[in-house]
Amino acid sequence: MLVGAEHDAPYERPHLSKGFLLGTVRRDRLWLRPPEQYRELGVELVLGQRVVDLGLEHREVELEGGGTIAWDRLCIATGSDARRIDGFEDALYLRELPQAEELHSLLESCTPPGPPDPARLASAAPNPPLSLDIIGAGFIGCEVASAARQKGCAVRVHEALEQPLLRVLGPELGAYVAGVHRAHGVDLRLHARSLPDLTERVLVAVGSEPRTTLAHKAGLAVDRGIIVDELGRTAGDGVFAAGDVTRFWHPLYETRIRVEHFQTAQRQGFAVGHAMAGATEPYREVPWFWSDQYDLNLQYVGAGLAWDETVMRGDPGRPPFTLFYLRARRLIAAAGVNDHHTIARARRVMEAGKPVTVQQLADPSFDLRAAALA
Ligand SMILES: Cc1cc2nc3c(=O)[nH]c(=O)nc-3n(C[C@H](O)[C@H](O)[C@H](O)COP(=O)(O)OP(=O)(O)OC[C@H]3O[C@@H](n4cnc5c(N)ncnc54)[C@H](O)[C@@H]3O)c2cc1C
Repeated sequence: MLVGAEHDAPYERPHLSKGFLLGTVRRDRLWLRPPEQYRELGVELVLGQRVVDLGLEHREVELEGGGTIAWDRLCIATGSDARRIDGFEDALYLRELPQAEELHSLLESCTPPGPPDPARLASAAPNPPLSLDIIGAGFIGCEVASAARQKGCAVRVHEALEQPLLRVLGPELGAYVAGVHRAHGVDLRLHARSLPDLTERVLVAVGSEPRTTLAHKAGLAVDRGIIVDELGRTAGDGVFAAGDVTRFWHPLYETRIRVEHFQTAQRQGFAVGHAMAGATEPYREVPWFWSDQYDLNLQYVGAGLAWDETVMRGDPGRPPFTLFYLRARRLIAAAGVNDHHTIARARRVMEAGKPVTVQQLADPSFDLRAAALA
């Protein structure tokens, strides 16, 4: 039984800040699986029902409406929610489909009739039909800025740090991303200490927070995520947790990590599902995610851990190129722009735990795939 607070069947959230806003991915293409597949798999969907208590003692979850559901094994997969900021209670936030629908209608009202005008994209239009203020230049803020500019809106982005995406990508790539947005006419205000008078249309995109309330209430260990082992087990008997909400033990990094990305939620979720059925194989993949902004596809492989050295492969700022991140001379992450192959190979090197030198990483003729297999 799959119980969810949202009324919609499970869908792919990544589209909500990209194709769905641009109109290239329609609502009926968002679903994770067609409805009949749940029936075929023997999964009963219980939608629009919020769980308010896990009921560890009697093995019965309590629903907001007062009902209960008995369980033998329980998995908490409550994900994350958009982080809210005081004073912006009425602003737009983007986590769920109805919020994306509201934002989509807003952006649609920017679009002037007729074919797209590339000249308008390159610089802020003199009399833009609508302007959008975005607070936060993380992935969601940057992706919405990209969609909004492509729709013809004037866009201002306010970011407290020195560069967009700074914490994950570092200053070098952050500066590149800043340049891309400015070249597309975004009014990007970095290192913003205070906010000016904002338009009525404000999107707050300042990160997300794991939804840990249920686990907390049940007395399970929580430390910026529900604490689980490599199989997704909490300390509660028969109680597992998976996806964005967890801080899980990763055998490769030998530490607990929390990842807020689709592929990890899905793949670690599979591993936890298998563990609930008795399997003992942990999730040990290196996390990977992507972001689409304008004509750029940015891919990152790694766990977002601190690095002490970077190495560039390719011409910085001229895609395709990839930046590698090392700690104590060991490759721990890579971020590439329109460079899918290098990222896929770097991932294999990391998963295989093979050593590569700084010179090899910098050299585009050095075959990372062969290094992974060596
Ligand atoms: C706009 C947007 C763009 C994104 N883009 C990318 C991207 O490009 N690449 C990428 O890798 N990742 C991206 N992500 C992140 C990715 O979508 C998440 O990592 C993924 O959805 C996490 O899956 P999850 O199942 O752990 O949690 P969620 O998808 O958050 O699902 C949790 C579900 O639990 C439900 N729930 C919560 N509490 C309760 C309760 N008490 N009772 C019942 N149900 C409850 C929620 O309503 C929700 O339906 C994006 C996310 C967003 C919001």
